[in-house]
Amino acid sequence: MAHERSRLFRLDPIDAKWGMRESLISYIVRVAAAHSIRTRELIRRIYLPMLDNPGGALHSPFYRNQARTINGVGQYARTFSELTESLTTQGGLARHTLLPWRDLVPENGTGLIASHVRWCPACLVEQRCNGVPSHFPLLWSLDRYQVCHLHDRPMAEHCPRCGKYQQWIPELPDQTRCTACGCFLGHSGSFELQQPDARQRRHAHLLHDMLASDAGVEDWARHSHLCRRLMAAANHLADGQKSRLSEMLGLTRTSLSCWIAKGQRPAFPQLLHVCDAFGVGFKALLTSDAPLSSPQATGGPQLGIVSRRDSSVDLGTYLTKHLQSEGPPVSVATLAKQLGVSRSKLKYRHPDLVQAVSTQYRDSVASQATLLRQQEIQRVVSLTEGLVATGEKPTGRRLLPQLKLNRLSLRRRYLRLAYWSARQATISR
Ligand SMILES: [Zn+2]
Ligand SMILES: [Zn+2]
Repeated sequence: MAHERSRLFRLDPIDAKWGMRESLISYIVRVAAAHSIRTRELIRRIYLPMLDNPGGALHSPFYRNQARTINGVGQYARTFSELTESLTTQGGLARHTLLPWRDLVPENGTGLIASHVRWCPACLVEQRCNGVPSHFPLLWSLDRYQVCHLHDRPMAEHCPRCGKYQQWIPELPDQTRCTACGCFLGHSGSFELQQPDARQRRHAHLLHDMLASDAGVEDWARHSHLCRRLMAAANHLADGQKSRLSEMLGLTRTSLSCWIAKGQRPAFPQLLHVCDAFGVGFKALLTSDAPLSSPQATGGPQLGIVSRRDSSVDLGTYLTKHLQSEGPPVSVATLAKQLGVSRSKLKYRHPDLVQAVSTQYRDSVASQATLLRQQEIQRVVSLTEGLVATGEKPTGRRLLPQLKLNRLSLRRRYLRLAYWSARQATISR
């Protein structure tokens, strides 16, 4: 009998055992880490040669925009789950994307996946403390999952140190580090700019419930089930008038008939809104036979439109709160972005507070930089010693691949010095 050997390590995907199923991207990043290879190099060397038409996946727009859809319902989700299954011989990876839900949502996945990488900083800290392999749950990819249902805090999408967005496929095989500055993205600082509102909380729970659904989702997550249920609700609650039920749900008059008569798929936020308005989970909406009760007004009319920040937000209070909080200091630019106002408006309104924020941020950047330097120096020393321990001569050339993987370079003077003294120390031993 021929032994089937996988080309890539067959890691156990992180699943409900740890609370939430990890995303396919998260799995691929961990496979890259297990091979000590950069994630994009893994994709370039192993995945791309196996694609029939790698075209778009070779270019940077793929990494900028489309890579996120690996977790979604489209072509990249299919291709990458199939390839990863065949490379690792690990089955069932489509469940780590939204593919099981593809019959319910439009093929282009409107409103499904967030446009930027999001994470819960407190969850990342907990993964570390509990010895769970660091990973990003699939739930975090959903655009409407805006609050961590475990910690009741807004999901983060800016690095706590440099304020940058994260890349979907990190160069280094570690999703918990900022793809721009390398700092750990987790923290347990309690400071929040905006408290989650009730709707965000309900949505977070509905979405968690949706993805926690057991196997066999494909059998009931179907557009035909949705139509049957909505038609029954229209008969029961609106004298058979789809347009009236549409309005009761806070949708446009024709929404329901487009879905039922024309077979159009609701955009994902609309589907979520329907669950929310009826006060039922996805599974109950689609599979139960119990009559649905009258929809509740849940602020639906602005569906699909990102709500503008409340203009009455008291900027001064926020700035003061930020200064007093234990959360990581952020730049004025980041703060302005988070508040949805321009930097100049913030400066004009609260010059003193802005000055204080800026000083606090500068100081923290400086001390972080010192810390980072120390960490880098330690890393270079331990890499050099590691090389000696394996019986190799610690030449710069031999060290290079490891340095590259750690984003370090001996061109930096302080690292060159650290390397030389570590090397001297090992020789003189
Ligand atoms: Zn959390
Ligand atoms: Zn950063």
